Amino acid sequence: NILITGATGQLGRLTIDSLLARGADPQTIIAGARDVSKAADLADRGIRVVALDYDDTASVSAALDGVDSVLLISGSEVGRRTPQHKAVIDAAKAAGVSKLVYTSAPKATTSDLILAPEHKATEELIAASGVPAVILRNNWYTENYAGSAAQAAETGVLAASVGEGKVASASRRDFADAAAVVLLEDGHIGEVYELAGDAAWDFSELAAAIGEVAGRPVEYRALSTDEHTAQLAAAGLDEGTIGFVTGLDAGIRGGALGDTDGTLARLIGRPTTPLVEGLRAAV
Ligand code: NDP
Repeated sequence: NILITGATGQLGRLTIDSLLARGADPQTIIAGARDVSKAADLADRGIRVVALDYDDTASVSAALDGVDSVLLISGSEVGRRTPQHKAVIDAAKAAGVSKLVYTSAPKATTSDLILAPEHKATEELIAASGVPAVILRNNWYTENYAGSAAQAAETGVLAASVGEGKVASASRRDFADAAAVVLLEDGHIGEVYELAGDAAWDFSELAAAIGEVAGRPVEYRALSTDEHTAQLAAAGLDEGTIGFVTGLDAGIRGGALGDTDGTLARLIGRPTTPLVEGLRAAV
C-alpha cells in the first residue's frame, strides 16, 4: 500500500490521479488528510482516508502503521516544516516502511534559495533515519505564475527582480506523474532526482508566453530589488511578504532554478508540459 500525505492538496490529488491512471488499485492507496472532510471525494473513489496532521504525532504514527511506501509531500506552512516532516520520518522509521519519497527543492543541500533550508534539513533527517528513500527535488510549478500572468494580462507588464535568471518549471501534473512512477516502480531507492521542465525560460520568454495566452503583448520589466520592494510596498504588501517575494526573485536571479537535465521527462516517459500550455491550463 501507498500513503500520500497532503492528499487534499493540489499535488497530492494529482499524484493519486496518476497512481490510478497507472493501474494502482484504489484500495492500496491511503490518503492522509489533516481535515478528512476535505477528502470525501477521494473516499468516494474507494480510497482509504486517514487523519494525518503533521502537528499531531499520534495521528502521524497511526497513519503510517502498516504502510509499505509513503509520499511525504512537503508541508505548506513555511517555517514550521522541519519538525512537521520529522514527525513523518520518525513514524516511517518506526513502521519499517520500505520506501519514503519526499518532495524537496532544487539542489536543496547547497542552494541559497530562501526556501531551501527546510528541505535541506528534511533531507538530512531522512538520511540520518536510514529509511530507504527517494528524493524528488521539484523545480517550480508553472502554475505558480498564474497570478502574475493574470495581472500581466491586464497591465501588459510583467515586473520582477529576477534579472535574466531562468526557471525550468513544469506543470504540477508532470511532477505528480514522476511521484507516481517512483512509488509504483521497484527501485529508485537512494536516488536524488533533480526534476525540472525540459526548457528553462527567462522572464522575457515568460512575458511572451503570457502574451500568447492572453492575446495581447506583454513585456518584461526588469526591476532592481529596491525598485521591486518599493513597488510591492506601494501595492500594500506587508514587509514579510515583500521579503519573501524579492528573496525568491533574488534566488532566481542567482540561477537557483535554471538547471534542467531531462530527468523528469525520462522518469515520466514523455516531454514535460511546455510553458505556454501549462500557463493556458492554469489561468
Ligand atoms: P497545496 O497547498 O495545494 O497542498 C498542501 C497540502 O499539505 C494540503 O493537503 C495541506 O492540507 C497539507 N498540509 C499542510 N499543512 C499540513 C499539516 N500540518 N498536516 C498535514 N497536512 C498538511 O500545495 P501543492 O499541492 O501545490 O504543493 C505541495 C507542496 O509543494 C507544498 O505544500 C509546498 O511544500 C511545495 N510547493 C512547491 C512549489 C513549487 O513550485 N515546487 C510551489 C508551492 C508549494 P489542507 O488541504 O488541509 O490545507
